Amino acid sequence: MVDYALQRKSRLAEVYAGRTGVAEVCDASPYLLRAAKFHGLTSSERCPICRKEQVTIVSWVFGEKLGQISGSARTNEEIQHLAMSREEFSVHVVEVCRTCSWNHLVQSYVSGLPPRPPVRRSRRVAGGRTSNNATTGRSANVDADGGPAGMGTEGMEKYL
Ligand SMILES: [Zn+2]
Repeated sequence: MVDYALQRKSRLAEVYAGRTGVAEVCDASPYLLRAAKFHGLTSSERCPICRKEQVTIVSWVFGEKLGQISGSARTNEEIQHLAMSREEFSVHVVEVCRTCSWNHLVQSYVSGLPPRPPVRRSRRVAGGRTSNNATTGRSANVDADGGPAGMGTEGMEKYL
């Protein structure tokens, strides 16, 4: 799990010091505000910018195995259900203020079932086009994929 508390803190410090404009951090998209309204959970923490209301926590799920669900906001119950039924995916938790549109990434973590070993039996090595893995030999069990790549924070930008 990655916690973004430090980044949040320094971001807020910049705002309080006047080095970063409020408009720059209070830029939640209509999509995010709508997700906060329908899928969000009110937290106990007051908005650090306007202090008018408690921030809403929204969780987004990302993962190629999620299909159409990837990139959407989900409730905790839905995420728990996905965690038991889908292969590895990432969850990004965002806090958003529905009054002033302050928003920030709070944490991200990986959830879901362990990925199944890749099935690549149909693509036999037939005389030479093996591009990589010269060092790993011909062992069939080597996972050449290197795990779940591309599950970072990219993709979040359009929602933040
Ligand atoms: Zn606010």
